[in-house]
Amino acid sequence: MRDNQQQDLHHVVIVGGGAGGLELATKLGDSLGRKGKATITLIDHSKTHVWKPLLHEIAAGSMNPEKHELVYLAQAHWHHFKFRLGKMDALNRAKQEISIAPNYDEDGNEVIPRRTFKYDTLVIAVGSTTNDFGIKGAREHSIALDTQEQAERFHRRLHNALLRAQTQTTPVQPGQLEVVIVGAGATGVELSAELHNTTRELAAYGLDKIDADRDVKISLIEASERVLPALPPKLSHSVELELKKLNVHLYTGERVTEVTSEGIHTHSGKFIPSSLVVWAAGIKAPDFLHEIDGLETNRINQLVVNRTLQTTLDANIFAFGDCAACPVVSSKADENVPPRAQAAHQQASMLYKTIKNRVAGKSHLPEYTYRDYGSLVNLGRYTTVGNLMGSISGGSLFIEGLIARLMYQSLYQMHLMALHGFWSTALQALARTISRRTESQVKLH
Ligand SMILES: Cc1cc2nc3c(=O)[nH]c(=O)nc-3n(C[C@H](O)[C@H](O)[C@H](O)COP(=O)(O)OP(=O)(O)OC[C@H]3O[C@@H](n4cnc5c(N)ncnc54)[C@H](O)[C@@H]3O)c2cc1C
Repeated sequence: MRDNQQQDLHHVVIVGGGAGGLELATKLGDSLGRKGKATITLIDHSKTHVWKPLLHEIAAGSMNPEKHELVYLAQAHWHHFKFRLGKMDALNRAKQEISIAPNYDEDGNEVIPRRTFKYDTLVIAVGSTTNDFGIKGAREHSIALDTQEQAERFHRRLHNALLRAQTQTTPVQPGQLEVVIVGAGATGVELSAELHNTTRELAAYGLDKIDADRDVKISLIEASERVLPALPPKLSHSVELELKKLNVHLYTGERVTEVTSEGIHTHSGKFIPSSLVVWAAGIKAPDFLHEIDGLETNRINQLVVNRTLQTTLDANIFAFGDCAACPVVSSKADENVPPRAQAAHQQASMLYKTIKNRVAGKSHLPEYTYRDYGSLVNLGRYTTVGNLMGSISGGSLFIEGLIARLMYQSLYQMHLMALHGFWSTALQALARTISRRTESQVKLH
């Protein structure tokens, strides 16, 4: 079945409506789609969008996902693009066509059959998934935070573990309320601080048999010698001090060798009991991209692109965000743009111009230069630390506290503004601030 053949316009197909893809579809819809100069089709295997950097807050229960979900069909209707539900699994470059796998309901009945979509310009923005590096038991016994569904599943398991401990007649057993987070990058560090807060909040809401300080243990395991190994040592040091104050158990220089239903084993012979393991130790692009129809991919399945964000072997196919390996200008030979929301946001802005040029028949395509504005790490309600880079600070400037928190929040606000414009974003922020006063600060179910 072919889905988008009816018109004779330039077909732009964007696969993946995440931090980058949804911004691009919205901008192109508002310009080319609205003026009838091209058809813009966005394909995603989920019906709703949640900005990925919020997932650890959803997992910990400090954020209610319903308040931050955006329904793709509604966004498409408001911004003049088409949305199609489905998971891309194949590409036919000769026919300029992608294939979307059939979709089934929870009872296994087929809802949407396999479909193909023709493109003149294809943009692949399917993000990344957690990389468990094939460690024994990691896939079966740990949870990744790649999707909203996984984040919500983790939250349910945490909540159930607390309910079980509250109602059992025996004392809390070792490991029963212990969360182990593998990987002390930004995701692992931020999740541990959020969990420290929400487990205490949850216990305060009537779970009176649980003493969070005594019964709940949070451990963070990192193969490198320091937390946040990709960030400056000063930042790592500052974050380590904060985590120690929160009684988060840090195991640096420890490599996980096996995960079981009882806990995790490390290369130095340690065993850390745990009923809840979160894997946050690295990323790779989705497996289906690996050398898809002969395109160049790297060892973590990312599509290799030029600075125009065109794939190296096909000028009609672009890739950006976490699923693309794009070189950083004037840096060490094989350094690529890091997998970050700020990079996806910048690339979406550039691709908007690129695609407008292509549709207008102009041959000039802009080239992407990564601007690192710094890194911010938010330790929940406790503190935020970070370093600001480049033109803002004229080098690298260490910041913390309120300024850092406001800068951290501004990245999400920028995403919302790209999707809804200034006034809608401001009104939504106001509505959330007001409703927060009448709600619990933690998700109680
Ligand atoms: C917990 C957490 C915290 C983070 N915090 C930060 C932060 O503070 N700052 C920062 O800069 N970055 C942060 N990141 C990284 C950031 O989220 C990513 O770099 C960013 O989301 C990448 O954007 P993207 O558009 O490439 O992919 P994504 O935002 O991941 O979007 C990919 C989209 O593609 C869809 N998709 C996937 N496969 C298919 C398929 N086969 N067919 C159709 N659709 C598909 C998915 O459903 C998804 O909607 C964080 C990540 C996590 C997990």
